[in-house]
Amino acid sequence: MATVTLGKTGLQVEKNGFGCLPIQRVTKEEAAYLLRKAVDGGMNYFDTARSYTDSEEKVGYAFDGIRDKVILATKSHAQTGVEMRKHLETSLRNLRTDYIDVYQFHNPAFCPKPGGEDGLYDAALEAQAQGKIRFISITNHRLKVAHEAIDSGLYATLQFPYSYLAGPQEQELVDKCRQAGMGFIAMKGMAGGLIRDGLAAAAFMAQQPDVVPIWGVQHEWELDQFLSCVRQEPEMTPDYQAVIDHDRKELSGDFCRGCGYCMPCPVGIEINNCARMSLMLRRAPTKEWLSPKWQEQMEKIKNCLHCGQCKSKCPYGLDTPHLLEENYKDYQTFLK
Ligand code: SF4
Ligand code: SF4
Repeated sequence: MATVTLGKTGLQVEKNGFGCLPIQRVTKEEAAYLLRKAVDGGMNYFDTARSYTDSEEKVGYAFDGIRDKVILATKSHAQTGVEMRKHLETSLRNLRTDYIDVYQFHNPAFCPKPGGEDGLYDAALEAQAQGKIRFISITNHRLKVAHEAIDSGLYATLQFPYSYLAGPQEQELVDKCRQAGMGFIAMKGMAGGLIRDGLAAAAFMAQQPDVVPIWGVQHEWELDQFLSCVRQEPEMTPDYQAVIDHDRKELSGDFCRGCGYCMPCPVGIEINNCARMSLMLRRAPTKEWLSPKWQEQMEKIKNCLHCGQCKSKCPYGLDTPHLLEENYKDYQTFLK
């Protein structure tokens, strides 16, 4: 088993964390089964969020009576301190606990600071003084905010998208966090479904000793795969490297990484998924992408104002509106 010390928090975290977003899609009993099996298999870091519908409730139900065996991380997407206090009380109730280990501002558009008009950081400090949260942390999809958070010295951990498809910008964040004594939690370790080989993904993560990936788990076979990595940390083999090299080659150039740096879009286009729909349909075939919900999302592309906001923010230099149009056209061929 590989343990990571989460920066200056000193928390001893099993290298493979459990991302609790996908358990929204299974029943309470199924979720509890997966979560408890994860603990029995050696996992101890569980990351959920106030905005993941009933995920917190399922986590609280599963870990009732074994709170001391798990490290709980959740998030608040509150825009004000008043709202954050309410979120925190709901999270504590849902999680059936009187403290949260890692409390994260959920992808704010700016870096909350003490004395800010929003009151977010002050509310977190107050909660910390009351013993309701142990560490104040942040998640983000924006490089600028992530850098500001690290440079501020105000945060215990940063959660950011990171996988073997990451570029030098993300690697710089990992390295900066290490130097700053901040924990680095990797979201989207499977690049939001573009990476298909969990063991190759884990072998890459094993080469980054300070990074804690939180693997999204919905199915038992997914959990089993990551529990095998808990028992025996995967080493980079020529076979895994070949998978990684193949994916890096296939997914190089003008493809959307799903990072979301370009959002929000003024007409509500979910760019981070819609601009890579063709890839998702081919690499991760699932009927879900053709469901009425996603058809509706894809239809929003027709409302694009061509304002260029997304294009100017994409760190990969993509012509995002054009990419959306291409994906829209391709999507229609799947619906025939
Ligand atoms: S160009 Fe279109 S997709 Fe991009 S931000 Fe503007 S409206 Fe949204
Ligand atoms: S278009 Fe660019 S910024 Fe937007 S999600 Fe895709 S890769 Fe990220």
